[in-house]
Amino acid sequence: MGNKVAVVTGGGSGIGAAAAKRFAKEGMNVCIIDIKEERAEKVRSEIADGGAEVFVAEADVSNKEDVFSAIQQVMEKWGQIDVLFANAGINGTITSIEEMEAEDWDQTMTINLRGTFLLVKSVIPHMKNSGGSIIITSSINGNRMFKNIGFSAYSTTKAGQVAFMKMAALELARYKIRVNAICPGAIDTNIDQNTFTQKGVEEVKIPIEYPEGNQPLENAAGKPEQVADLVYFLASDQSSHITGTEIYIDGAESLL
Ligand code: NAD
Repeated sequence: MGNKVAVVTGGGSGIGAAAAKRFAKEGMNVCIIDIKEERAEKVRSEIADGGAEVFVAEADVSNKEDVFSAIQQVMEKWGQIDVLFANAGINGTITSIEEMEAEDWDQTMTINLRGTFLLVKSVIPHMKNSGGSIIITSSINGNRMFKNIGFSAYSTTKAGQVAFMKMAALELARYKIRVNAICPGAIDTNIDQNTFTQKGVEEVKIPIEYPEGNQPLENAAGKPEQVADLVYFLASDQSSHITGTEIYIDGAESLL
């Protein structure tokens, strides 16, 4: 068997880019899936040639044809998939529930939740004979934190991902496919570009002030590379007895 193969969605930026780089550094072949191909190509070019191959598939994770075609390309190229990092996601529209348009609600559901389902579904046939590891990026929002008023759609998708992860962990255990979720707190990425805050949220916000910041461990947002360390651990055999679990990576932010 050749190098292990990892598929990373949202690999063109932030947490996904850091994980793609980490996987490649560990000698895995990596497929970067992103809706923004130029970004993903930039990440590919940044990955130093350490013997790993990297290829980019432009795909919208919420589009069934896109996802299945990307996974097909991976199989044609490398003939195996060992790791799926289902990470692409958006904050989407941030507003009061009263003002939230159904279409905006749907967009967040579709990308974050349907996208996760489609990716997991699409890799099962290719993982079921030799096992594998699936890691889903959820969040502290929707799991251990509910004070971010306006994030109702986002938080609902992030809670849904954890429920889906647990269902998948049980169902896929027979194939030795492990499924876990990570729940980051604030991480320094480009997610603001996919955050559409509307005026309505101001009216319903509950003011909360932490004079010394809301990230107790480092008093600052985490780095994507710190999250990539956890993702690699969950992808590797070091976590061989861990499945069906969500792991918080937030410097205790969500406990405050
Ligand atoms: P990011 O915006 O830097 O990266 C996300 C990438 O996903 C981008 O390259 C974007 O083009 C891609 N993407 C967006 N929609 C897509 C789609 N429909 N199909 C394919 N690719 C798509 O953001 P990030 O912070 O690295 O986010 C990654 C994940 O981490 C998300 O699921 C997010 O909810 C989660 N998360 C982020 C934070 C944080 O503070 N940054 C905290 C908790 C959870």
